[in-house]
Amino acid sequence: MDTPKRPVPIVNPWARPFWDAARKKRLVIQRCGDCNTYIFYPRIACPHCFSDNVEWVEASGNGIVYSFTVVENNAPSAFIGEMPYVVAIIKLEEGVQMLSNVVECDLDKLHCDMPVEVTFEKLTDEFTLPKFRPVKTF
Ligand SMILES: [Zn+2]
Repeated sequence: MDTPKRPVPIVNPWARPFWDAARKKRLVIQRCGDCNTYIFYPRIACPHCFSDNVEWVEASGNGIVYSFTVVENNAPSAFIGEMPYVVAIIKLEEGVQMLSNVVECDLDKLHCDMPVEVTFEKLTDEFTLPKFRPVKTF
């Protein structure tokens, strides 16, 4: 049996700037122009004050692992070649949370509150995925 191809994101028109930026290895999130709250996932209006005055801003790319799980059995699927892999909720410095993967990480050392930084993985010519890796401390 052939391994299925990894799926690509389904993109709402209002989320297109996120994916366009990711393709250029930039992490952007939205910020409300009226109440200044950071917003993620992409929306057409601020979930805090309902203003439609939302703008795209560059995120720091820094955050912490808020929660995670290690996927060790997921066959058959398009991700079989990735196992074991980490699915994590990343809390960015800006306060928003993002579902992603933690990569380049010793799984025995992975823990909640671990500082991470964004890195990018090209999936196709159209899609590059923001992922996170541990911040190196020297
Ligand atoms: Zn707002």
